[in-house]
Formats: sequence, C-alpha cells, structure tokens
Amino acid sequence: MRLDKYLAECNIGTRSEVKKHIKNKLVTVNEIVAQKPEMKIDENTDVICFKGKQILYEKYVYYLFHKPAGCVTAKTDNLHKTVMEYLGEEVKSDVSPVGRLDLDTEGLLIMTNDGPLLHHLLSPAHHIPKTYYAEVDAVIPQEAVALFEKGVDIGDDKPTLPAALEILSETSANLTITEGRFHQVKRMFAAVGCNVTYLKRIKMGQLSLSDLPIGAYRRLTEEEILSLKNDNN
Ligand code: URA
Repeated sequence: MRLDKYLAECNIGTRSEVKKHIKNKLVTVNEIVAQKPEMKIDENTDVICFKGKQILYEKYVYYLFHKPAGCVTAKTDNLHKTVMEYLGEEVKSDVSPVGRLDLDTEGLLIMTNDGPLLHHLLSPAHHIPKTYYAEVDAVIPQEAVALFEKGVDIGDDKPTLPAALEILSETSANLTITEGRFHQVKRMFAAVGCNVTYLKRIKMGQLSLSDLPIGAYRRLTEEEILSLKNDNN
C-alpha cells in the first residue's frame, strides 16, 4: 500500500495533509524518515511513526452518515449522486452502506467495511429496530397504531412484524420497524390510506442522528460499535 494512503486511512489527515507531513519529515518507516508519499509499505510488518508515535492500521472502520434526499444508497450510479460521493478521501474506499434508504429518504445510514457485521445486520433473522419520522398526505387513522402493532398486509407473502407507531400530529408520526422490506414504511402507510411525502430515518438500534448536519458523517464511538455487534438494542 502507498504510504500516503495508509496514513490517510489511519486518519492522520487528508491525502494532501499527509503529503505535507511527509515533506516536513514527520513520518518514519522502520525508523527511517520517509521521503516520498508514494513509497510502498507493508501495513502488516512495517513500523510507521508520525511525530515519533507509532500509527496502527485499522482494519475496520464505522461511520454514521446523514444521508440527504436525492442521492442513491449505492457505490456507483449512472444517473444520481451516490452516498459514496459525500465521503472524504480519508474514508476507506471499501466501505459499504448497511442497508438501503430510498432516493428520496433522508437520514441515518451506517457505512462500514466490516463485512461480517454488515452481513449480520442485513440478515433476515436480525431484527434491529429502525425508527423513521414520516409526514403523510392524509390524516393518520388512530386504528393504525393497533394494526401496525399486530402486523399489516402490505402485499407480501406474510404480514409485517409488529411495529410501533407513535402519532405526532394528524399527518406526522414516528414508526419503528424491525425488518427491512422494500419501501416498507411507505407501503405500511399506504395500507392505511396515507402517502408518505417526507421520510427520514432517525434511529437504528441505539444509534441516533442527533444533530449531525445533513450530508455530514462521523465515526461511530467504540460503545456504538459494540452496541451493533452485541445486539443489545
Ligand atoms: N421504508 C421506505 O419506504 N423507504 C425507505 O427508504 C426506508 C424504509
């Protein structure tokens, strides 16, 4: 791997900042001052130091991204901007989104290169609760609370699993589901005569968007990573 890529992936700085650090002789490889950003290193055996402190390579990285509407949850797309285009160059290029949000849906999206965790979180047997804030074009019937709690027919083989609906106003609500079916929230509201006009995922397990600005991302804390791995939602 190139030295500048390695340092950027270890969050020492952006590729251009890292280049400056190398130029300023702040980086050593096996105790020898590095001369060139493009120098090839072996991340498993070489000892890389920045300002005299050893930099350890992180295999897995975890980010929480506030997805804007109008970008697709995919790594590439011919038509629209992708979620990947919001990530800075310090983010490893092998991260993938955990699950999908529709083009017009905003909100919380986890991005990681931890394949086993990604697989675990996306498996149908895994029921991590996801909370969505929805605005709709008709009055939400009170009966929807009991219907969603029981499970509703949205045209699939089976009704949905129990979901918690908290009505906030005549036309807005928070809905917590534990599955990830195609257009699930929109189809659940459609089943009670409401079209979703605005949708935002605000929570996933113990993780919440809080005040992360739209289009921004941050690293997950150790505690948050553990909460995803341990299923203690
Ligand atoms: N349900 C939907 O209908 N859309 C999403 O983007 C996510 C959940």
